[in-house]
Parts: sequence; C-alpha cells; structure tokens
Amino acid sequence: MPRMAPSGERTDATPPTFRHFIAGEWADSTSGGTFESRNPADLSDVIGRFQGGTAADVARAVRAADVAGGLWRRTPAPKRGEILYAFGALLAQHKERLARAMTREMGKVLAESRGDVQEGIDIAFLMAGEGRRMFGDTTPSELPDKWAMSVRVPIGIAGIVTPWNFPIAIPCWKMMPALVTGNTVVFKPSSDTPHCATLLVELMAEAGFPPGTVNLVTGSGADVGDAIVDNPDVPVVSFTGNTETGRRIAERTARRLKRLSMELGGKNGIVVLADADLDLAVDGILWSAFGTTGQRCTACSRVIADRPVLEPLLERLERRTRALRLGDGLDPATDVGPLVNIPAREKVEGHVEVGRRDAELVTGGRLPATASLGRGVFYEPTIFAGVAPMDRLAQEEIFGPVLSVIAVDGYQEAAIALNQTRYGLSSSIYTRDANTAFRAMRDFETGIVYVNAGTIGAETHLPFGGVKATGNGHREAGHAALDTFTEWKSIYVDFSGRLQRAQIDNQPA
Ligand code: NAP
Repeated sequence: MPRMAPSGERTDATPPTFRHFIAGEWADSTSGGTFESRNPADLSDVIGRFQGGTAADVARAVRAADVAGGLWRRTPAPKRGEILYAFGALLAQHKERLARAMTREMGKVLAESRGDVQEGIDIAFLMAGEGRRMFGDTTPSELPDKWAMSVRVPIGIAGIVTPWNFPIAIPCWKMMPALVTGNTVVFKPSSDTPHCATLLVELMAEAGFPPGTVNLVTGSGADVGDAIVDNPDVPVVSFTGNTETGRRIAERTARRLKRLSMELGGKNGIVVLADADLDLAVDGILWSAFGTTGQRCTACSRVIADRPVLEPLLERLERRTRALRLGDGLDPATDVGPLVNIPAREKVEGHVEVGRRDAELVTGGRLPATASLGRGVFYEPTIFAGVAPMDRLAQEEIFGPVLSVIAVDGYQEAAIALNQTRYGLSSSIYTRDANTAFRAMRDFETGIVYVNAGTIGAETHLPFGGVKATGNGHREAGHAALDTFTEWKSIYVDFSGRLQRAQIDNQPA
C-alpha cells in the first residue's frame, strides 16, 4: 500500500494530488488547476500534482494568518520555542524520508539532501532557544527613578518565498525565526519543489503549530508570489532567489514600505595562491563547484589561480572532474546529480556556447553519452581555462556545473579579480601564509569568507548572506535572522511619581 499523505490523494493509476494548507486544513485552490512536479533524474517519474494557487488563495491564507496571529503573538516566546523544538525533533525523526523525497524531487545526491534536512533541524533548535533569549537591552536611564529597556516585537504576517535548491533548509531558515518571534507565515515554495514543502508543512502541523500560524500556498511566482508581495496585510517579505526576481520584488515592496529581506545570486570565487596545498584546494574546488550540480548560491564558479600553480592545478582539476560519476542522486555511486529542470540545462548550454568562443574548454561541455542518463536532465561537469575576469563566463551566474579558471600574478591581482563581480556572497583563499589569509579576510567583498576551505558549508549559528547584488543588507541564520522579523520597541518606566523631563536641560540656570 502506498503511504497516504494527509495532504494527498492517491490511486494506483495516477500520481497523488496535494493541496494547500490554510487555517490548519488541506485545501483545494479556487482555480481548480494543478501542476506537476517531476523527478529530474527521470522525467517520466511524476511525483505528484499540486494546486495552482491564485490571489484568492493567498487572500484566504493571509486572513487565516491574521486570525491566528492575535493569539500566537501573545503566546509566551518560550512556549513558541517548545513547538519549534518539537518540530526539530520530528524533522530529525523523518530525516531519511525527507532526504529521499528531496533527491527525487530536485536531484541533489542523497548525502547532500540529508545535509539540507539537517540544516532545517539545526535552525529549528537554534531558534527554539531564541524563545528563551531574544535579548533586548536594559540600560540606565539619564533620570533618577526611571528604567529604560528595549524589546523585540513581531511585525505581523511574514510572506516567505523560496527557491528549489535548498527546499527544506531555506524555508526553515526563514520560518523558524519568523515564528519564534511571534509572526505568522504564508509560505510559497518554488514550483520545482512543492512536494518537499508539503512534507515540511505536514510535520509543522504535527509539531503543534496552531491552525493559521503556518499556511502553504503552492503555485507560480507570477500568481502566488506576486499576490503575497502585493498583499497590504503582509508587512514583511523574506525572499531567496535570483537577483532579477529580487529586484522586481524590491520595487513592489518599496511602494508599500514593506520590510524585505533578500538573499540573491552569487558568483563565488576561490583564490589559489602559489603557496597553497594544491590537493586540499582541488578537494575544496570540486566540492564547491560540482556539489548540488553547481546549483548552490555559494557554489564556486570561478577559480582565481596564481600563475606558478596554474598548470598543476588545471591538470588535477581535469583528471578529478573526468572521474566524477553522474547519475540518480539516490544511487550511492553517484557524485553529481541532474540539473533541476530543462530550462536550467538550456541556460548552462547557452553559457557553454559563449565559453567556447571566449575561452578554452578543458573538460565537459556536453550532455553525457550514457544512454540511461537520457531520461534525466544531466550535463557533464565542465571546466574552462583562459577566462578573463570580465568575460561573461566569469560575470554571470550560470547555476550549473560550469567552472571558469582565471590566471593572475600574485595576491593583489587575485583580490582585484575576486572582487570584480556585481555579486558578493561567498569567497575563499588557499594559502599557507597567515598574513595573506588575514589580508583576504579584510579585502574580499563578500558576506562569507573561507580560508583553506571551499565556498560552501555555512553553519547555522552565524549570519548568512551577501553584499552588493547578492542581497539588501539583511542576513539569515544566527541571531541576525531575528532582525528581519522583529521591530524594536523602546520602553521607559518612570517610578519617581513626578514629571521628569528627559532631553530637556534640567540643570538650574
Ligand atoms: P527564482 O526564479 O528567483 O525563484 C525563487 C522563488 O521566487 C520561487 O518560489 C519563484 O516561484 C518565486 N518567484 C518568481 N517570480 C516571482 C515574482 N514575480 N514574485 C514573487 N515571487 C516570484 O530563483 P530559483 O531559480 O528558484 O533559485 C535560484 C536562485 O536563487 C539563484 O540565483 C541562487 O543564487 C539564488 N539563491 C540564493 C541564496 C542566497 O542565500 N543568497 C540561496 C539559494 C538560492 P516559481 O519558480 O514557482 O514561479
């Protein structure tokens, strides 16, 4: 017997149909329309059908979130934290099931899917603890018999719009801080990963989030995303996705003076200096460039190599890249899974065509020849050498398994090349010289800097995000995440029993 999800219906002949989750109930869309989610490793494998949401569905979800918000914001934060804790424990219990569902739906290899779920667990536990911290300031007053303090207060309903590449981690990074601080949420996942989102929300309901605190509306960015962004009763929006989508959302939210947190694209570089441990660097580059098939916001797409090590580095990168095995991420022998969908592969192919004209193809640059891979959206891990810092290959986010190698002379040139991009998410340097490492930490214009490690692998308890066109100054994770979802309220208590005038010259003349 197939497992019957509370949200889905299944007959043996047809894939299951899943629903929105609004006010604690699984609900059909007012449109009556649905869309499919398919396995990118085998496009004939249909995971399910999902509701094609509408503005009316969003309006229902916002009403539910509004009703639930009255009680939720007055629930003591430690009690809210206990529900987050229960959710984290459930995620841990269901980690393997969720990881397998993730690999099936968006393709990343199983070990990485497990890591994605683990990030969800980690942020749930971290934010559960915030229920008992959520510190404000208690300060002396400038006047006698008076106290002064500041507290965080929730903003209201948070619109959560997420991409497909971290389909459990990113929604958790957003929803956990939003919820523990007393907001309610309307969540729109990517149309490439609605199944992961549904499984996540099922567990949130099971953990005990009251009806209406968490609402899921599936459907396209144009229909559901826009409706969330434009809804006047959603005062804060947290968005992760590409920079162009972010720019459009920023324009719309600005008109309504909304709070907006954005985590956007990247063009992350690894600098390898002449004194680097080359084998260590190659390990880090391969993991960062081809992990998640290059579809991480922190993926390394540029290697900036000091000329004395260029040739040996290229030789090792080529040899190791040719040995990577493509396949279904559920197969333990697989190193690199498929791309998420056909448009993603077409985008990669377009960039490779540009690379063939501007640079030197070292390896890859084509569809794999293996017949069984023809059912999925695979592309060979690709390396270009002879790339100049301002070439399109080195400037545009490709979001696929394409690595550009740029040659430079020494640290100064490397730092200039690294910063010559409009993005600023993650960067790395391989060197054995402590002084140079510290110069890089100071000079690299990115939100995250690694030393002697790849560009991926951020930990939940430090702020995560980027500078320049990678974002708008907000950060996820760590205690910085609380800033997105709270307002500061400053409170003064005067117990002198008389009129005391602050900020007035009280000194006798
Ligand atoms: P995307 O195309 O921008 O989509 C992201 C989300 O926005 C999806 O849910 C999408 O819905 C929705 N959306 C699209 N148009 C919208 C609109 N007009 N209004 C509101 N919502 C809209 O990005 P993606 O392809 O899913 O994700 C890849 C991108 O995310 C890359 O650029 C990557 O670098 C970035 N990313 C950044 C970080 C970070 O922390 N900096 C982390 C992960 C990913 P539908 O797709 O369902 O239509």
